[in-house]
Amino acid sequence: MNMTQKTERITYFVEVVLPLHLPEYYTYRVPFEYNDYVAVGQRVVVQFGQKRLYSALIRRIHAQVPGYQTKYILSILDDEPIVTEMQFKFWEWMADYYMCYVGDIMAVALPSAFRLASESTIAVHPDFAGEYDSLAAAEMKVLEALMNKSVLSITEIITITGYQKIFPLLKTMIEKKIIVMEEEIKQRYMPKKEKYIRLSDTYKENETAVKELFDRLEKKTATQKQLMVMLSFFQLSEFGKNAVLKKQLSQRNDLSSSALQTLIRTGVLVEEERAESRLIDAQATHDADDIQFSEQQQQAFSTFTHPDAKSVTLLHGVTSSGKTEVYIKLINEAVKEGKQVLYLLPEIALTSQVINRLRRYFGDKVGVYHSRFSTNERAEVWQKTIMADNGGYQILLGARSAVFLPFQKLGLVVVDEEHDSSYKQYEPAPRYNGRDSAIYLAHLFGAKTILGSATPSLESYYNAQNGKYGLATMDKRYGGLLMPEILCVDMKEASRQKEVQVHYSKFLLDHIQEALDNKEQVILFQNRRGFSLRLECEACNWVPQCKHCDVSLVYHKQSNSLRCHYCGYSIPIPAECPACHSTSLKMKGFGTEKIEEDLAIFFPNARIARMDLDSTTQKKRYIEILTEFEDRNIDILVGTQMITKGLDFDNVSVVGILSADNMISFPDFRSFERSFQQMTQVSGRAGRHGRRGKVIIQTYNPYHQVIRDVIDNNYFSMYKSQITERRVFRYPPFYKLIRITIRHKDEHVVNEAADFLAANLRQVFGNRVLGPEYPSVSRIRNLYLKNIQIRFEKSEAIAQAKKIIIDISNNICNQKQYSKLSIIHDADPV
Ligand code: ADP
Ligand code: ZN
Ligand code: ZN
Repeated sequence: MNMTQKTERITYFVEVVLPLHLPEYYTYRVPFEYNDYVAVGQRVVVQFGQKRLYSALIRRIHAQVPGYQTKYILSILDDEPIVTEMQFKFWEWMADYYMCYVGDIMAVALPSAFRLASESTIAVHPDFAGEYDSLAAAEMKVLEALMNKSVLSITEIITITGYQKIFPLLKTMIEKKIIVMEEEIKQRYMPKKEKYIRLSDTYKENETAVKELFDRLEKKTATQKQLMVMLSFFQLSEFGKNAVLKKQLSQRNDLSSSALQTLIRTGVLVEEERAESRLIDAQATHDADDIQFSEQQQQAFSTFTHPDAKSVTLLHGVTSSGKTEVYIKLINEAVKEGKQVLYLLPEIALTSQVINRLRRYFGDKVGVYHSRFSTNERAEVWQKTIMADNGGYQILLGARSAVFLPFQKLGLVVVDEEHDSSYKQYEPAPRYNGRDSAIYLAHLFGAKTILGSATPSLESYYNAQNGKYGLATMDKRYGGLLMPEILCVDMKEASRQKEVQVHYSKFLLDHIQEALDNKEQVILFQNRRGFSLRLECEACNWVPQCKHCDVSLVYHKQSNSLRCHYCGYSIPIPAECPACHSTSLKMKGFGTEKIEEDLAIFFPNARIARMDLDSTTQKKRYIEILTEFEDRNIDILVGTQMITKGLDFDNVSVVGILSADNMISFPDFRSFERSFQQMTQVSGRAGRHGRRGKVIIQTYNPYHQVIRDVIDNNYFSMYKSQITERRVFRYPPFYKLIRITIRHKDEHVVNEAADFLAANLRQVFGNRVLGPEYPSVSRIRNLYLKNIQIRFEKSEAIAQAKKIIIDISNNICNQKQYSKLSIIHDADPV
């Protein structure tokens, strides 16, 4: 929105967003020489505070002289806006709704490559090959400074070079890959490499050569195996046009790997490693118009595309019912209309499986945006979202942060696994829900949203029931595949019959054995909560606690130590109890590590792996385990909720849920809903492509309603009983919750401030205010915590109430004795 004809000597001012926790926009003056160049959505460099420099975003341009002295903007960083008007509107809504400031959002929304500030640190680009001749004098000077000291902050560079207006220079140098932000080097994403096979250049697009090769191979018996390899290869590669995953080729029946090696050695085929995120062959190989829908899929599709369709549709489809295929067709329609598509997944479900599936249909129109990517890569995806029409991306696939991308003409939002609580961000602000924000974003664009799940959240299903959302149901698996058979083991009864060893029923063990005998795979699920191994003194019941947090330490076999899951504090295993000096310390609990160990005893020949929060702190390892399982190099996979998320394995015949009771009894108003979701989701991993799978649930409460509903695959029964409880006990979706957390290093101060805050809030909101209460973990990293909850009926004017809550909170923080107090607001906590 470049204002034309500004050259006449009018004094302009800009209001800018700074990437800081500040309640308002700040005004700066535009130097005359920039009059023609400033535009809303561009970055400018401004000074804020004593000597800090920041990249700020222009939100407004005007000519009203403010009643106070303003500083000048120092330089303009962008030729074109990098943030759209729509994004600003979205950020402003998000700040209001999630009770934070637009600056907080800017700080997480923009890839950090866009957030140069005086404290940003810069280093020489690792790939810079010393092409000094091409450098400008000023660039050379920066480089020299960096040669002496490998990392410098921008403030230091200014001091050394004496250049005040250095941001535009640094920005260009980053673009030219001469320097990088240091952060970039630290978090450089090491992409997973895959082996590919392609036709060598001699044979590529040379039909005669190929024909001669086939003739030659055909003639001799000795080369029959090579002929088979070539036939398979040609089939998979569309007659040599594409590269083929080596894995995929090797999976072909009776394919000889020595024949493949010979073909590579003799220069017919070439083996190459390629990074997964940078697929060279990103061309589409399939046409979404060719997908033939089942009747249920067709109905779901029509519900969504009907002229009277609601703007949001919930697709409730059992696992493997073909939801993804429905999304693909909807995406296809949007893309044909020239619209952009946002496809959200929970972070952990964002695997190459989904990415490849979309690329098969939409090729290089698909961009992927998630935290495994480096900030440079994210900046690239950002730019390609802006360039939608000019060779950019039309389909953006990502975890929740993809809602921040600069869409130009959004036409469709897909939120898969919409029930997943990892759509909600906990730390830091904005504490937003990716699903709900995406729905609002779609609304801004007049776009439509499809929410998909086999186990919808009660909130979404309620909206579908009362007509706010459309509803499509697919209760059968695609292709006539049967739903898994769900069996339940009564552990009380089994113990009586002496058919339980440690924590395992004979029934489950027998089924695992049977699967192993048939060369099928097994998944064992153990809920994380309360099941980690702890040390306990048998004499006095002493349990080692964290020094900094109010939790017990958890045993880690690998490091043979006790560790805190909140702050990482760890101690070696004590030889005796410090309280009573007894030496009889025992391990208590039933964690995934213990299960892995037990199984090795029961099934000494099985290949067993574990996937939980501890073994997957590195996401790379997570992907490796999945790939190994997919490639059938693992027989039994033990894991926490991580393994329930949207994975597609085709050889799993038994899924065991080791203890259903712990999930159900967790003290939270969502625990029945969550238990149902987790058990149903993990059940969905059984028998997806082969025969009917089996799910075995171990429980001491076989007649518990939730377990009955899981066994009957009866979502609606779970929904009905839960929705009644929510209404009676005043929970979502009938009420909106706001949680306020008060945090300080002194327990006294927390208590006093929390009481004071609650009293102030009660004066306005009466008995809607609950607490203060200690949360289940009341101290983390030496900070004490207390919670206050406020419940509003859905019909109430919550926007206004949120403003009042913030004002009351700020008033408390502004008092001297509370200056170090944090008050955290969380709208719609999950
Ligand atoms: P969901 O997303 O509901 O779990 P998927 O979309 O992954 O289900 O479908 C399950 C399997 O069925 C996949 O292998 C998919 O390719 C196949 N499938 C689903 N719908 C169709 C269709 N219309 N034509 C061909 N294959 C389909
Ligand atoms: Zn003791
Ligand atoms: Zn701790």
